Formats: sequence, structure tokens, C-alpha cells
Amino acid sequence: MSTQPSIAIVGGGPGGLALARILHVAGIAATVFERESGPLERPQGGTLDLHEESGLLAIERAGLGAGFKRIARYEDQGTRVLDKSARLLFEDAGSDGNRPEVDRTDLRALLLDSLPARTVRWGAALADLQAGPDSRWHLALTDGHAGSFDLVVGADGAGSRVRPLLSPYRPQYSGLTFVEFGIDDVDARHPALARLVGHGKMEAHGDGMEIIAQRNGHAHIRGYAIFRVPADWAERRFDFSSPAAVRAGLVAEFAGYADAITDLFRAANDSFAVRHICALPVGHRWASRRGLTLIGDAAHLMSPFGGEGVNAAMLDAAELARELIAGEDWAEAVARYERAMFERVMPAAEGSAEGAATLLSHESAALAVAQARSHVLAE
Ligand SMILES: Cc1cc2nc3c(=O)[nH]c(=O)nc-3n(C[C@H](O)[C@H](O)[C@H](O)COP(=O)(O)OP(=O)(O)OC[C@H]3O[C@@H](n4cnc5c(N)ncnc54)[C@H](O)[C@@H]3O)c2cc1C
Repeated sequence: MSTQPSIAIVGGGPGGLALARILHVAGIAATVFERESGPLERPQGGTLDLHEESGLLAIERAGLGAGFKRIARYEDQGTRVLDKSARLLFEDAGSDGNRPEVDRTDLRALLLDSLPARTVRWGAALADLQAGPDSRWHLALTDGHAGSFDLVVGADGAGSRVRPLLSPYRPQYSGLTFVEFGIDDVDARHPALARLVGHGKMEAHGDGMEIIAQRNGHAHIRGYAIFRVPADWAERRFDFSSPAAVRAGLVAEFAGYADAITDLFRAANDSFAVRHICALPVGHRWASRRGLTLIGDAAHLMSPFGGEGVNAAMLDAAELARELIAGEDWAEAVARYERAMFERVMPAAEGSAEGAATLLSHESAALAVAQARSHVLAE
């Protein structure tokens, strides 16, 4: 490109870090501002499956294919669907799957280790962003620093602070609440639960509720108890100051389920989290504005039912980087990325919205089987 913009990336999640890395490979520097104090401030969450045409493509463009193979879990691509009495409705061992699983923390470490020191500024949450008279954007960070950049990329997730400068839309609550739980050392301490979940993902359906449990690395299971309830329900229903009370409360809510399934709650460790599932409208877009853009959840937050969120975020990073690297005019390159991205994410956003709308319906077990089958066929 003729002139390179100075680039700030707000948010060091998978989208922001993939963008920084792919630009770095092409010799373009960017600074990532991340609100967390360091890479180990919190566990990064559960396992993700990367798709060939998106997440894995971004990994290849980042030149990290070999490193990814070392952290990927090709053996954990199975799917099991049960009804509430623990009857197996569908099973796929996933042995010939092409969507390897990876723990989020490992993926973040892979991307971070591939960046030059000081690319990521930790403990630097975006506090203010304003257009200056010099047609640059002025950022103020919570660590007291400030800076001016030609291009600011909002990769700051669901609650993006950059998005309001481009779009009036906010994520809306989907009506679904997840209570997240974890089980440690499952193979040694809970072999029956290890078999129940299998090597991949297990879903159990019934009574208008659902449990999803996924095998992560290091013999860890991460699970979600899923309810269609008002947004403040979980905080009122469960006493999160008492892990024992949360365990008992979950067992009580799923009273119609077999003990073999509710044992997941009995075995849960003391860390619980509530996730209110929100999404931006399908087809969310904005009028291009010089020097500002969004990638990932900031641009197109979806409910997690398509398993596309992180894949879409990483493909956004790869595509924005490709346009910036190839473009003569960086502002036009950004606008080209946006036009293509708005169309590209539509099917995934529609699928996720459909998944959120039909989840926990009376036929949800049958639907889950049909979806699991079509997922396997698609692969
Ligand atoms: C319960 C649940 C399960 C999911 N499961 C899957 C799955 O199986 N597969 C899948 O593909 N997707 C899944 N997703 C979606 C996936 O997590 C997201 O789509 C993905 O993380 C988006 O990446 P991102 O980089 O855009 O944003 P994020 O991962 O949200 O990263 C944003 C980063 O920005 C930082 N940040 C936020 N605000 C600021 C600020 N003001 N200043 C500086 N930094 C800031 C944050 O600390 C964070 O590091 C799931 C989501 C949920 C809630």
C-alpha cells in the first residue's frame, strides 16, 4: 500500500490479536489496547472449534498453522444428544471431523506469543474516543495514557465502546440465560461423567431446559445449564455467594432429569457464572466512517448456537488485514472489508438467531438431533 495508517486495535480477544498478528506478518504495526491487566487475569473460557473456511484460514494467514496443531484437540470433536432420562438419541464420535477444538486460553497464548513485545498494552481500557480536527482519532485509556491514530478498529466484543460511534444499535437479550459451571479432573474423579460427556459435546434436553457440557483440555468439563427466563432471574434464583446452594439449586431446577445427568451439577467446582445471551440484529450494519471500523462481536454479536462467533471474528481479522495489506487507499480498503463482511456474516447470524429462537421448544430434543445430524453431514 502507498501510505500505511497508524492503527489502534481496541480489544485483545481472538479477533483483535489475529488482526495484529496478520498485519505484523505483512510488516504493518498496530497497537492493541486491552482492558485486562494481563494474559492471566481470568480464564478465557471454554473450548472452541475452529472451522476450515474461517478460524483455521485466519490461523494459516497468521503463519501459525504448526503452532496451532500443537494445541488443537482433534480427538474431541464428538457429539452426544440425550433426553432427560439419559437415553442416547444421537451420537457421532467425530473421529473424521475437520473442526478441531482448542482451549481459548491456549489460542490466546499462541497469538500473544507471536506478537512483538509491547504490541499489547494491558490494563488499558478505552475510556474515550473522539474525532480530532486532524482527521485522526484520539483515544483516552483508563491507564492514563492517550494516543492519536488514523484507524481505530473496535475488537472490543459484545459491550463495545467503539460501536456507538458507528451504530445506534445495542445487543438485545435473547431470553436465554446460561449458568456456567466446571468440573475438574473428570477422568480420575468422575469417570461416569467423563463417559456421559464423551470426547466432545453432550447435550441433554427436556422440560423446556437444556444442559450442554463440553470436554476441554486438561480433563476439564465446562457446562451450561440453559433457561428461557427474564434477564434477572438467575441472580434472584441462585445464591452465588454459596457454591453448595447453587449446586443444589441447579439439581432442583432439573428435578425431572436422571441423576446420571444432574450428577454434572453435584460434581461442579465452586466457580459459577451467569451468561445472559445477547445478540445484535441480524443484518446489523453501519455507514462507513473514515478511520473507524469493527470486527468480531463488536460488529455482529450472535448467540452462540451456530458455533460461529470466534470463527467469524477471526475471519473478519483476516479479511480486514488482507484489504489493508493489498489496498492502495486504506480508507477504501476498510470500506471494502465492511461491505463484504456485512453480507458474509448474514447466514451465520440468521442461523444463530434461529437457534436461539427454537432452543428449548417442546421439540428441542428432536431439533437438536436433526441439527447434529446435518452438522455431521455438512462436514
Ligand atoms: C457462553 C458462550 C459460549 C460460546 N461458545 C462459542 C463457541 O463454542 N464457538 C464460537 O465460535 N463462539 C462461541 N462463543 C462466542 C465467542 O466467545 C465470541 O464470538 C468471540 O469471543 C468473539 O471474539 P472477539 O475478539 O470479537 O471478542 P471477545 O472475545 O469478547 O474479546 C474482546 C476483548 O476486548 C476487551 N475489551 C472489552 N472492552 C474493552 C475496552 N473498553 N477497552 C479495551 N479492551 C476491551 C475484552 O477484555 C476482550 O479481551 C460463545 C460465547 C458465549 C457467551
